[in-house]
Amino acid sequence: MLEKHSGPDRVRRWPGTIPVLHRYTPGVAGETFFDALRDRGVLLGSRCGTCGFTYVPARLFCERCFAELAADTEVGPGGELVSFTIGFVGLNGGPLDEPVTLGLVRLDGADAVLCHRILDPGGDEPLGIGQRVEVVVRPPDERTGSILDIAGFRLQ
Ligand SMILES: [Zn+2]
Repeated sequence: MLEKHSGPDRVRRWPGTIPVLHRYTPGVAGETFFDALRDRGVLLGSRCGTCGFTYVPARLFCERCFAELAADTEVGPGGELVSFTIGFVGLNGGPLDEPVTLGLVRLDGADAVLCHRILDPGGDEPLGIGQRVEVVVRPPDERTGSILDIAGFRLQ
């Protein structure tokens, strides 16, 4: 019979680490999204002709109705801030030198939201839901075909 433990510190355990390595491929639609971002500095989404939802980044199929999609809809560069948070702790658990503000933005022409940094959030007015923002794409010679080709969202 299995015994139910009421505290994780009271079970038998041994310390250790497990090295986990992985590669994540962006897929067909993701490749098209990152190529367009790197080569043209634009954001491509996918609009579902069946249910009308527009995804960003682009998708190969609709998660709502399973219709086949194409990466053929430019969205943004403007958008609306729908949520944000401020991070003070890094991935290693230590404090960050500077807090990082991350925002969820619904780009113009899209229904899905995109998460990225908010650039210079410490202006005169406090950050607010519904605020207009604009995507800032890095200069062409700095782009590598990654999500970091986007520098972040600039407040408008
Ligand atoms: Zn759909």
